[in-house]
Amino acid sequence: MRCSICGGNGVIRIPYSRRIYCRRHFLEFIESKVERCIRRYRLIRNGDLVVVGVSGGKDSVVLAYVLDKLSSVLDFDLILLHVDLGLGVYSIESRDVVYWVSRVIRKPLYIVSLRDLLGYGLPELAIASGRPMCSVCGIVKRFILNAFALEKNASSIATGHNLTDISVYMVKEFLRQNLEGISKLYPRIDGIDGVAVTRIRPLFEVYEWELKAYADLAGLRYVRTRCPGYEPFTLDNNLKQMLTALDSKHPGLLLMMARRFVKNIEKYPNPSREVSKCSVCGLLSSSDKCSFCRLTEKALGKPMGMVVREKLRSLRPTG
Ligand code: AMP
Ligand code: ZN
Ligand code: ZN
Repeated sequence: MRCSICGGNGVIRIPYSRRIYCRRHFLEFIESKVERCIRRYRLIRNGDLVVVGVSGGKDSVVLAYVLDKLSSVLDFDLILLHVDLGLGVYSIESRDVVYWVSRVIRKPLYIVSLRDLLGYGLPELAIASGRPMCSVCGIVKRFILNAFALEKNASSIATGHNLTDISVYMVKEFLRQNLEGISKLYPRIDGIDGVAVTRIRPLFEVYEWELKAYADLAGLRYVRTRCPGYEPFTLDNNLKQMLTALDSKHPGLLLMMARRFVKNIEKYPNPSREVSKCSVCGLLSSSDKCSFCRLTEKALGKPMGMVVREKLRSLRPTG
């Protein structure tokens, strides 16, 4: 196998373009794909401060690493935020990895521990609220990322959602005929002043297998063990398996879907942009209280949104 660009030793073949790359040219290929995505969808502007949510998994590790490389070209700054969910060994391993990443790219890392914040880790919070762990996890992470980014006056929050994840959500929402849900999968969700920070997904056009290859070829550390809450036979995971198999028989199918979706965005119903603020914490909410305040009220007897916002205000970078 010879690299299609330099003729050197080819290490990877991209089925949807039929190109072969050496290590160096593959890394450059992914980096330029992310850069194009940022420019095409106007995800980041000159002088922005971007909060990167890092879990320690390969996607967000690659995201932080590539954004750092692009930060001088595109002239923006980044800080890393990790939420320690209190999941035993898994969380300890995640912490190690995010420390490592922040040292490699020399960017400030903020760690928020759920147990320090609320006295409860994710499993206890799930039991006390009577809700599934994954849904509690989503609510908690979204709230903390948004509240933290607001405190820091950040321009946006970047997450490591990749093309494979996004395709799964897209097909799932189509099956459920939740067309508004599909429009929320756009690579950029604009924020609302003082209430919600803009969310961006720079890995929108990068397959999960490409991110794994990037992490391995760039020699990046990432958490390899599965989250203890992982369940193999959820609709999401079944869809992921099927879509991945389909894409290997029809290379580029998911990439085409994502690109055409962006072109068709106007044809999808707009998610409601009515601004309603949580009566407790003042952040974005679809009803009187936001989902984080409702969740913590149920689990702890008191809505914690405001308390958490204040604690995040005084958070200092680690290390
Ligand atoms: P997930 O919801 O686990 O699929 O993660 C989606 C994205 O959310 C990741 O790529 C990260 O950018 C971010 N994220 C997930 N877990 C954490 C965490 N514990 N701390 C900070 N950001 C996270
Ligand atoms: Zn090459
Ligand atoms: Zn609230």
